[in-house]
Amino acid sequence: MTKYVYVTGGVVSSLGKGIASASLAAILESRGLKVTLIKLDPYINVDPGTMSPFQHGEVFVTEDGAETDLDLGHYERFITTRMKKANNFTTGQIYMSVLEKERRGDYLGKTVQVIPHITNEIQDFVRRGAGVGTADAVDVAIVEIGGTVGDIESLPFLEAARQMSLKAGPNNVAFVHLTYVPWIAAAGELKTKPTQHTVQKLREIGIQPDALLCRADRRIPDDEREKISLFTNVPEYGVISMWDVNTIYKVPRMLHEQGLDQLICTKLQLNTRSADLKRWDTLVSEVENPAKDVTIAMCGKYTDLSDSYKSLNEALRHAGIHNHSRVNIEYVDSELLTADNIDQLKQYDAVLVPGGFGKRGVEGKILAAQYAREHKMPYLGICLGMQVATIEYARHLAGLTGANSTEFDPETPHPVIALIDEWQDADGSIQKRDEKSDLGGTMRLGAQSSDVAPGTLAYDIYGSVVTERHRHRYEANEKYLERLQNAGLVISAITQREKLTEMVELPRTVHPWYVGVQFHPEFKSTPWDGHPLFTAFIKAALDHKAA
Ligand code: GLN
Repeated sequence: MTKYVYVTGGVVSSLGKGIASASLAAILESRGLKVTLIKLDPYINVDPGTMSPFQHGEVFVTEDGAETDLDLGHYERFITTRMKKANNFTTGQIYMSVLEKERRGDYLGKTVQVIPHITNEIQDFVRRGAGVGTADAVDVAIVEIGGTVGDIESLPFLEAARQMSLKAGPNNVAFVHLTYVPWIAAAGELKTKPTQHTVQKLREIGIQPDALLCRADRRIPDDEREKISLFTNVPEYGVISMWDVNTIYKVPRMLHEQGLDQLICTKLQLNTRSADLKRWDTLVSEVENPAKDVTIAMCGKYTDLSDSYKSLNEALRHAGIHNHSRVNIEYVDSELLTADNIDQLKQYDAVLVPGGFGKRGVEGKILAAQYAREHKMPYLGICLGMQVATIEYARHLAGLTGANSTEFDPETPHPVIALIDEWQDADGSIQKRDEKSDLGGTMRLGAQSSDVAPGTLAYDIYGSVVTERHRHRYEANEKYLERLQNAGLVISAITQREKLTEMVELPRTVHPWYVGVQFHPEFKSTPWDGHPLFTAFIKAALDHKAA
């Protein structure tokens, strides 16, 4: 029987609820339990696919092609269960589903209401995410409720959680509440009042937390924990201190040492072996004791918010760990790059152009790709980064003046990157589309496999087949491939199904390490295995630095 742990948040957002949830899941997994994580987002958008990365951070893509909250990235990096579309849902999805049922007449003329129809739907979605009734059913589903307790919009989720614990019984549902204990410098004190209030709010709606994770910039002393316990009705052993650490990989050990997993297992009557966090300790020691260091220039647009590149940053760090190195990431705003200042890239050990949408900053990215090519600096282009490398090559080496993507210049004489239906039409001519596709629905999303050409860098990295996840609309235009190849660009992987360009590279005879990929490899990197492409990229950067 599947048990549930609901994780709620109080006082303020950005306290690390995702990391806390993933850490608890990781400890439970190390106790031999089959665990998954589910994220409930209270906003009305159907998914974060069309939300600005400035507002929402990265959009994480699952194997089955769902565009989800970035917390799912943490989940996949912390536990072995892979996330699916069903592991993340929003208020928008709940309402959409209820409204469809209402239109179909499923409610038999009843008045459709938040309670019970919306709250029942939420519970059904949670059970589906936990795989209940399927071979994938887990022992424990950790359900993270987005937002902060007290917000109007997350109320139906909290109400659904309360109802679930009422129906399933107290030994099948546990509640963990993440709260903030600020240090007031002027008073020289940690303040517990916000915590008292947020737990009051929670208890008002009928939820008594079993454990409190108290975020603070420091360890919370026992007398303060005792006070919090008294005011919140949470036993003192359930008042757990979660202080700032230099790496998120310390959190599982921190929570385990204070008995969080045991508390949950006791509450949910789960008899398991004891936790084994050795691999986390090894990981932390690798992170804290790098032998070398390397600095990567990340030339992107959303440079002021590193949450937009969450998985990418993690993947680079993992690759560092696998090279016993610290990876420093310097954000270079591609909008400010010009031919006059591009040689600022000289100071770095490698250049990375990440994914992106829209025209802003694209010419700077093209310059960065050119600079890396001409100066034999290791270059990794991801998605848009592959596209700008292709445009750059077309313009400067294949004689295709004015080459561009139709995303940035619909009138370009040489659309080397374009929407498939702009180049795949019956008479073989390149057709222009005047209508832009529906923003919500035309992406190539999720995992697809490609064949890799023997003898290439790609082959050394991946072997004969590469399976990675996608999130993009535009493709390398088939009609230009021959001209690019004749000019020396290597197409090192093409998709098995549609024969689309997946990887391009420069021959090793002209450049030590220059690779562009249409997919997003960062979504599959974990601290345990790293990722072969990033590991190779960081190694190339280290070699470049040493040379
Ligand atoms: N804007 C490009 C496209 O839609 C690249 C997308 C990306 O980098 N994720 O194809």
